[in-house]
Amino acid sequence: MQASEAIRYSEGPFQPVIDKCEGCERVVEENDTKYCRVYIKPEAKWRLGICNFATHAKPEIKVVKVRINPLKASKRASRRR
Ligand code: SF4
Repeated sequence: MQASEAIRYSEGPFQPVIDKCEGCERVVEENDTKYCRVYIKPEAKWRLGICNFATHAKPEIKVVKVRINPLKASKRASRRR
């Protein structure tokens, strides 16, 4: 009986994942070859930087802390009403 999964990655235009995809939850394996569930060409995705769909790698996000004086903020909020 055929598996319920209708997509056949090896028969489509899908290209295998690259080393950087290792560990990503979107990797699917078919016939001992790993494919990406969301990208046809994983290699092209990584050429521009970190893949934005990667579940195992995240770009460094810099958090800039903005100091807010709570007193002034509440005054500003009440003025708007
Ligand atoms: S989502 Fe990105 S990192 Fe994950 S398998 Fe696909 S191309 Fe690779």
